Parts: sequence; C-alpha cells; structure tokens
Amino acid sequence: MHAAGNGQRGARRLPTPDHLWYDTPMPAHDAPSRSDEPLPPALDAALRSRTAEILPLLRAWCGINSHTANVTGVNAMGEALCAAFAFEGLVHERRPGQGVGDHHCWRTPAFDLAPPAERVLLVGHHDTVFPPGTFEAFELDLDGDRLRAPGALDMKGGLAVVRAALGALSDVGELAGRPLAVVSVADEETSSLDSAPWMRALGAGARAALVFESGRDHDAIITRRKGTGRLVLTVKGRAAHAGNDLAAGINAIVALARVVDRVALLGDASRGVTVNIGTIRGGESVNTVPAFAEAVCDFRVERARDAETLLEAARAIAAEVARATGATITLGGGLRRPPMERTDAAAALCETYAACARAAGLGAVEAGLLGGGSDANTLSAVGVPAIDGLGPRGKGFHTHDEYIELSTVHPKAVALVRCLLRLTGDAR
Ligand SMILES: [Zn+2]
Repeated sequence: MHAAGNGQRGARRLPTPDHLWYDTPMPAHDAPSRSDEPLPPALDAALRSRTAEILPLLRAWCGINSHTANVTGVNAMGEALCAAFAFEGLVHERRPGQGVGDHHCWRTPAFDLAPPAERVLLVGHHDTVFPPGTFEAFELDLDGDRLRAPGALDMKGGLAVVRAALGALSDVGELAGRPLAVVSVADEETSSLDSAPWMRALGAGARAALVFESGRDHDAIITRRKGTGRLVLTVKGRAAHAGNDLAAGINAIVALARVVDRVALLGDASRGVTVNIGTIRGGESVNTVPAFAEAVCDFRVERARDAETLLEAARAIAAEVARATGATITLGGGLRRPPMERTDAAAALCETYAACARAAGLGAVEAGLLGGGSDANTLSAVGVPAIDGLGPRGKGFHTHDEYIELSTVHPKAVALVRCLLRLTGDAR
C-alpha cells in the first residue's frame, strides 16, 4: 500500500465548527472508485453535526477517571457511553465484569439476524491507564488543535469517532438495517482477560473487526501486532542460618538467578521473540538462606507457536535447575494476548478501509509490526479479519502528554462511515 497523495490538487476546506476544520486533500492518483463518490448530502450533514458534539463529549468522558482498577469510575464511564450510544437502531447489552468494570455492546437488530460472515464489529475500551491520584494533575487542555487529556488518545477519542459515525447513520435511517455491533470493554489495559471470551463469542465468524486504538502518524492502519505474555518463575528453597547451618539451606535466589540467566536468552530477534526479566524479589534477611524468590518476565511473539516453544524451553531450564539445586521451581503465566498475525483477509480489509481513508483526506499507509497488543489480537486470533489504529491521530498514549489532533476526528468518522457502507452494502 502507499501513502495518500498529499493532494495539492483539489484541496478544499469544508465548513465545520470551531477547532474541527480540516483540509481535505482529494486523492491525486487513485482511480475513481465507489469510495471516492461524495456521501449523500443528508449523511454528510449528519456527520458534521455529530462531529460538532465531540468536544463536549470528550470533555465529559476524559473527566471521568476510568483506570481499569477503579471499577466505580470505569462503570461511570460505561454509563456515559450508554447515554451517548442511545441511538435509534441500537440495542444495548451490559456484560457484568468479574473483578473489573462492566463491558458493553450496542448492536443493530440486523446484527443478530445476519449470518456471522456479514457482521462487522467496532471495537473499543473504556478503561484507561491513569490511576486516581496521578490523574488529577493531568487535566484536559485544548491548545490549538491539540486536545490533551487522560485517555483522549487511548482511547476515548476512538469511541468518539465511532459515536459520530453511528450517530450520523442513525440520523439518516441507515443504521438499524446494517449488521453492526459496537463493543467496549472495561479491561483492555490489563489484557482483556475477563472480556475476551465474551468478545470472541460476539465476533465469531464475523466479516470484520475495526478497532479504534490510537491513530498513528500518517494514519497508518495496523494489521499486525505482537502477542504478549507473562512468565512467573517461583522458587521455593529451604531456609537456614547463614553462619551455623549454611549447607542445610537451599538458596532460592541462587536457583532463580540460574533460571533467569538462561530464560533471558530465549529471545530470538530473527523471529521477533523478545524476553524481558522485568521484576525479581526474594529473601528475608541477609543472614538467612532465602527460601523464596520470584521473577516475572514479559515476552512477546509474532507467531502463536513461538510462545509454545518459548514456554517449553523455559520449563526445561527450570526442571534442570531444580534437579541441580534441590529447589522447587514453578512456572506460571503464559500467553495473555495471542499475536495479531497479518492474514490475506486482514490485508484486504486494510485496502478497503484505506480507500475510504484516502477519500476522507487521511493518510492510508499500512503500519509496520507493533510490539504491543490490543483487542485486535483477541479477534484476529479467532480468525476475524481485523485492522486497528482507527482512532483520531495523536501521540503520547499512556503518558501525561497524551493528546489527539481534534481536526482528525471528523475525517476518521467520514472514513468509518464510508467503510461501513461498503462492508455492509449488500446486507441491506
Ligand atoms: Zn487502548
């Protein structure tokens, strides 16, 4: 795929509310296609008016602390979404979270009636990474086109794009008949461990999953993400006095050190496998042989089978060190998010969206491999063609400099509407 023409030719400025204007470079070199046709005037007008609602919505949403562990806050954000997605043509389902906030789905009657192969999922999350306490010092700030706020990029801005697009479709009576569902989960930032089975059931066999994580430079469309896992190495040795009885002890720290020294080398750059020994703890006092030690490793893989290989190798190392030292060594954890592997169907979906993005004046490059996972991984791993990074463009996610470029919200919503019309065109 290639970048959009940057369109000196045919650039036009559309009238939109304050802070929401943008230049729309028309594609300079693409053959005419359905994606380039103007939207029907009523839909175009509905999109503009729904875009105008975005700034107040984001002010309200980003003012709610929805750190994953702050269940009350996450549920307050869920309620705000329920109010925002109360559109004609959508039916709501709340899925109570177990140990996390509630997950939500809004879907059209056509979604339930359609064969799975015609269904399209729009995927987001309403939890964020900023705990109460770190959050208050980081308030919403609008500086020119930059809207800086906790969660604006990851990913309340993405939910705002979805809301503008579906609101506009609903306004012109084009929503209820299309097999669409919006899913927003409460635990994405902690790997969607609670929501993933429900999401996979909703998405089983679907035609496409569009995921609204942070928009990247050049509006790059994500088709590949690494899978992520944790490995917890726990060692039980035997305590003994360091002076009187050293030989009777089994030193858990020494045994663990031997294991992590070798596990750390299990990465394989040529296959995109990385291992990071992230934390280690153990021991009680300096004059006691430690009876306990634990290390936690982060690992990432491009292919699901590489996770199995890595875990088998780690188990073999642990067994060998256990035999040599007499310590008991257990391995916990595993693959938390399977990799999002680029399939032909995902590449085709990327092309479809890219044509719509170009028609909306956005970039349309395909992103390189990303090291972090998202719910695109969750659905891609069960065979649903998925693309990600469809939220507003911005930078600094998970930092106090997190911002979105507000003027990209409208073209992202336009691109989404165009894409949904194409993906569900023959389902009506
Ligand atoms: Zn996110």
